[in-house]
Amino acid sequence: MSKRDYYEILEVSKDATEAEIKKAYRQQAIKYHPDKNQDDPTAEDKFKEAAEAYEVLSNPDKKSRYDRYGHAGVGGAASNGYGGGMSMDDIFSNFGDIFGSAFGGGFGGFGGNTRRRRVNKGSNLRVKVKLTLEEIANGIEKTIKVNKYVKCTTCSGSGAEGGASHSTCSTCGGSGQVTRVTNTFLGQMQTSSTCPHCGGEGQVIKNICHTCAGNGIVKGDDVIKINIPAGVTEGMQLSVSGKGNAGARNGVPGDMIILIEEIVHPELIRDGSNIIYDKYISISEAALGTSVEIPTISGKARIKIAPGTQSGSILRLKGKGLPNVNSYGKGDMLINISVWTPKDLSKEEKRILESLSNSENFIPKPSSKDKSFFIRMKEYFEGY
Ligand SMILES: [Zn+2]
Ligand SMILES: [Zn+2]
Repeated sequence: MSKRDYYEILEVSKDATEAEIKKAYRQQAIKYHPDKNQDDPTAEDKFKEAAEAYEVLSNPDKKSRYDRYGHAGVGGAASNGYGGGMSMDDIFSNFGDIFGSAFGGGFGGFGGNTRRRRVNKGSNLRVKVKLTLEEIANGIEKTIKVNKYVKCTTCSGSGAEGGASHSTCSTCGGSGQVTRVTNTFLGQMQTSSTCPHCGGEGQVIKNICHTCAGNGIVKGDDVIKINIPAGVTEGMQLSVSGKGNAGARNGVPGDMIILIEEIVHPELIRDGSNIIYDKYISISEAALGTSVEIPTISGKARIKIAPGTQSGSILRLKGKGLPNVNSYGKGDMLINISVWTPKDLSKEEKRILESLSNSENFIPKPSSKDKSFFIRMKEYFEGY
């Protein structure tokens, strides 16, 4: 369907002034307001069409582009974020002040309609969860007991005692907004604010519930199951929607924010998704080769130490680190080998070592494979 000309929609000429355009839009909006045209199914479309036309013609930049290039100049429905697709809420929040007073309830008021009323939102609940490295490695379902605001069972969250014990707020007439008109040298200024009597809810309680003092919420215990994905890190926050504090008077609950704390592992060091373990071996183990037991995030494991292993060698177990929470793949486990140099030797031990010290094989002969500590660190941090 081709779009109608914006000037035609507002029934103004191309040289209409800003004030004329505004006045024309106000007339169209009043004429096609859905509350006044409940029997006319096309009214809402016309109401929206007028809003779209006004959105463009009231903006000098968009207006000049429209004048030069037509609908194409203002991007059509796809790109201006409004065109044709402007919702009723958008229209009221953008242009409500233009025709507000025409409908009694003030700023965007739909009369007795609940659409613009405020909904109470519960506050977010923050919980710390401590996890071991093993739990982080696999992900875990945690059951947490929390004390938070829950719906009052006496009044089923309504805040009112007994059945239908609400009445429309007399201050705002149910709209939740109050409008004030002040005279200034620029003319009348209309300002709207949340109704102080009902707090924007549009209704007041006749008989207040004694259990919750009319709030509809009380402190109570709740047990919440949460799934923590594998690979989370210290300080990370996970948000579980709708599991926070209940909203007052059957409002929307807040979220539960889970703050991750990592319990330091007694032996393993975490570096991102890699796991680092420091292992000392003796001079004879380094020279002769051996197999040693090491802790990993999935229990004990045995690794081989080749004969002639140098102090500072790093053994890499591919994929034995932690999963990355944001992507596929896993980190590695790195075993840093240090050769233990014996101290406080006995006479006999000294004698043996002295007899070996002149042996050709005991003289250091590092090759290009035996990289120094700093070279290895550089390679590690660059992720070779
Ligand atoms: Zn109650
Ligand atoms: Zn009110």
